[in-house]
Amino acid sequence: MMNDQVKSVDVLIVGAGIIGTTLANELQRAGRQVLLIDRNDAGLGCSYGNAGWVTPCFSMPLPQPGMLMKSIGWMMDPEGPLYIKPDINLRLIRWMFHFLRCMTNKKMHRSVRALTDISKYSLAAYRKLWETGRYPMDFRPNGLLMISGTESGLKDIKAETQIMAQYGIQSKELDAAAAVAMEPSLKSTVLGGTYFPDEASVEPLATVRAYLAEFEAAGGRFQGQTEVFDFVTEKDQIVQVVTTHGRYAPKLLVLATGPWSAKVAKTLKVNIPLLSGKGYSLIVNDFDVAPKYPMMILDRKIAVTPRDGSVRLAGTLELCDADETITPRRVNAILKGSHHYLKLKPEPQVFETWRGLRPCTPDGVPMLGFSRKWKNLFYSFGHQMLGLQSAPGSARFSTDLITGQTPYTDPSAFDPGRFE
Ligand SMILES: Cc1cc2nc3c(=O)[nH]c(=O)nc-3n(C[C@H](O)[C@H](O)[C@H](O)COP(=O)(O)OP(=O)(O)OC[C@H]3O[C@@H](n4cnc5c(N)ncnc54)[C@H](O)[C@@H]3O)c2cc1C
Repeated sequence: MMNDQVKSVDVLIVGAGIIGTTLANELQRAGRQVLLIDRNDAGLGCSYGNAGWVTPCFSMPLPQPGMLMKSIGWMMDPEGPLYIKPDINLRLIRWMFHFLRCMTNKKMHRSVRALTDISKYSLAAYRKLWETGRYPMDFRPNGLLMISGTESGLKDIKAETQIMAQYGIQSKELDAAAAVAMEPSLKSTVLGGTYFPDEASVEPLATVRAYLAEFEAAGGRFQGQTEVFDFVTEKDQIVQVVTTHGRYAPKLLVLATGPWSAKVAKTLKVNIPLLSGKGYSLIVNDFDVAPKYPMMILDRKIAVTPRDGSVRLAGTLELCDADETITPRRVNAILKGSHHYLKLKPEPQVFETWRGLRPCTPDGVPMLGFSRKWKNLFYSFGHQMLGLQSAPGSARFSTDLITGQTPYTDPSAFDPGRFE
């Protein structure tokens, strides 16, 4: 039964993934009264089973100069790291149009600057929260190894490293022998790589829960099992948010609904170019030699993250429209790629197979800012492959905008109006 009483709230944040919880905590601590809601419990969307990397060295957006030919090659291969289902529709065409326009050097550098700023801020924030000893976030400041088994892959790593060095990212090049000496779980198929010493990893769901606990300790309120399905508007204001557990009249509404944001925004007659980048992760622990360091296997775009007693293997990006089906062939491609480079036993037991939808904007930069159409609506979504590693920085930036402070980084890259 729906309760039709309208409850007034100061700030209503919809979506309790890592983006919604970090922003809820930041806004509550900045003096606002926040109600955070989610249709499930907190952290069960894309923030649940991601690779857990907090790696500012990965602040390259998807569209990059020269990416077009490479992506076409990947897209032809159903086991390749990037895949678009042959299902052409208007939303995909519009997204691709913007995506192609972002493949310039100038746009890429603007995105890298913005993403590096919010990622570095986040790494420091996670470290600080972990140092309180209050939460089992499993923060591991062990750096990151990027490896390749092909000459062209090594060239790509070098090019990326050179770009990231301009943004203060430290790295050390390794030949094959040095890579295997550092990480004995690697097979001799590896030709070399680069080590980034300042990066870290965390356990993703535990990190969402840590921020939720911080938020509640500051007096904020979370309500799960509450789905938004409609709005009531007047002139340029959203006056009511209609949910499965009653109606709310917020002074400010924040959409932190990740990959589902385009659908929610459509109810508000706003057309947003956001697609889902479906990826998978698997938890295994059957290794002859278990990995010690988080690793990116560049040729297959597989992320390897050591955890307490097991390893998470994550990868693939399948552009789709919030389609949550699991494609066995693409899950198997992660295992196949891992076998090629890692000392993984032939038939490893898979403890968990997970799929997640990365919220993908065409330029790889989140949309953070006020809506042009609705004056009390703020967007906080589109964090693509970097939502975990950039969440506290994104939350600080959004809070600065909402509370009228000068943001600590240039707001133009994040402006939601950039695709209009
Ligand atoms: C395989 C894989 C590996 C990844 N690895 C990394 C990594 O190592 N590091 C990194 O930084 N990022 C990584 N990512 C990306 C990262 O997971 C995402 O960027 C991030 O989780 C997005 O967070 P979010 O809060 O925006 O979305 P979500 O976590 O999906 O949260 C959105 C929430 O909104 C809720 N919601 C939606 N619609 C409604 C509604 N109508 N009413 C109420 N609630 C609603 C959902 O229930 C959900 O809880 C990875 C992603 C994948 C798929």
